[in-house]
Amino acid sequence: MFRILFYLIFGILLISVLRGVLGFVARLFSNATVGPERRATPQPEALKKDPVCGTFVAPSTAVRVEKGGQTYFFCSTACRDKF
Ligand SMILES: [Zn+2]
Repeated sequence: MFRILFYLIFGILLISVLRGVLGFVARLFSNATVGPERRATPQPEALKKDPVCGTFVAPSTAVRVEKGGQTYFFCSTACRDKF
Protein backbone atom coordinates (compact mmCIF):
# COMPACT_ATOMS: atom_id res chain seq x y z
CA MET A 1 0.00 0.00 0.00
CA PHE A 2 2.75 2.43 0.97
CA ARG A 3 4.77 1.41 -2.05
CA ILE A 4 1.90 2.40 -4.36
CA LEU A 5 1.59 5.73 -2.59
CA PHE A 6 5.32 6.27 -2.85
CA TYR A 7 5.36 5.55 -6.58
CA LEU A 8 2.37 7.83 -7.08
CA ILE A 9 4.03 10.77 -5.30
CA PHE A 10 7.34 10.06 -7.00
CA GLY A 11 5.63 9.98 -10.41
CA ILE A 12 3.87 13.30 -9.81
CA LEU A 13 7.12 14.90 -8.65
CA LEU A 14 8.99 13.52 -11.66
CA ILE A 15 6.36 14.84 -14.09
CA SER A 16 6.34 18.31 -12.53
CA VAL A 17 10.15 18.48 -12.57
CA LEU A 18 10.23 17.33 -16.20
CA ARG A 19 7.62 19.90 -17.17
CA GLY A 20 9.61 22.64 -15.47
CA VAL A 21 12.81 21.61 -17.25
CA LEU A 22 11.05 21.33 -20.61
CA GLY A 23 9.48 24.76 -20.19
CA PHE A 24 12.85 26.25 -19.30
CA VAL A 25 14.54 24.65 -22.31
CA ALA A 26 11.70 25.73 -24.62
CA ARG A 27 12.02 29.32 -23.39
CA LEU A 28 15.80 29.29 -23.95
CA PHE A 29 15.30 27.83 -27.41
CA SER A 30 12.64 30.36 -28.45
CA ASN A 31 14.77 33.26 -27.20
CA ALA A 32 17.72 31.94 -29.17
CA THR A 33 15.83 31.51 -32.45
CA VAL A 34 13.67 34.65 -32.36
CA GLY A 35 15.69 37.73 -33.23
CA PRO A 36 15.39 40.94 -31.24
CA GLU A 37 13.34 42.58 -33.99
CA ARG A 38 10.78 39.74 -33.90
CA ARG A 39 10.68 39.71 -30.11
CA ALA A 40 9.33 43.26 -30.06
CA THR A 41 5.98 43.55 -28.36
CA PRO A 42 3.07 43.22 -30.79
CA GLN A 43 1.31 46.38 -31.84
CA PRO A 44 -1.60 47.18 -29.55
CA GLU A 45 -4.87 46.82 -31.40
CA ALA A 46 -6.55 50.00 -32.53
CA LEU A 47 -9.24 51.01 -30.07
CA LYS A 48 -12.76 51.69 -31.30
CA LYS A 49 -15.03 54.34 -29.87
CA ASP A 50 -18.33 53.32 -28.35
CA PRO A 51 -20.82 55.65 -30.14
CA VAL A 52 -23.17 55.64 -27.13
CA CYS A 53 -20.98 56.48 -24.13
CA GLY A 54 -17.74 57.46 -25.88
CA THR A 55 -15.59 54.82 -24.22
CA PHE A 56 -12.72 53.41 -26.26
CA VAL A 57 -12.90 49.64 -26.45
CA ALA A 58 -10.67 46.91 -27.83
CA PRO A 59 -12.43 45.24 -30.79
CA SER A 60 -11.51 41.78 -29.51
CA THR A 61 -13.40 42.27 -26.26
CA ALA A 62 -16.07 44.72 -27.43
CA VAL A 63 -19.70 43.97 -28.22
CA ARG A 64 -19.92 44.40 -31.97
CA VAL A 65 -22.88 45.16 -34.18
CA GLU A 66 -22.92 45.33 -37.95
CA LYS A 67 -25.35 47.85 -39.32
CA GLY A 68 -25.59 49.20 -42.86
CA GLY A 69 -22.23 47.71 -43.84
CA GLN A 70 -20.47 49.36 -40.88
CA THR A 71 -19.30 47.70 -37.72
CA TYR A 72 -19.93 49.42 -34.42
CA PHE A 73 -18.20 48.52 -31.19
CA PHE A 74 -19.74 48.91 -27.76
CA CYS A 75 -18.36 48.62 -24.24
CA SER A 76 -21.36 46.61 -23.09
CA THR A 77 -24.62 45.09 -24.24
CA ALA A 78 -26.43 47.94 -22.39
CA CYS A 79 -24.80 50.50 -24.72
CA ARG A 80 -25.57 48.31 -27.73
CA ASP A 81 -29.24 48.17 -26.75
CA LYS A 82 -29.35 51.96 -26.37
CA PHE A 83 -27.84 52.42 -29.82
ZN1 LIG B 1 -20.55 52.19 -23.67
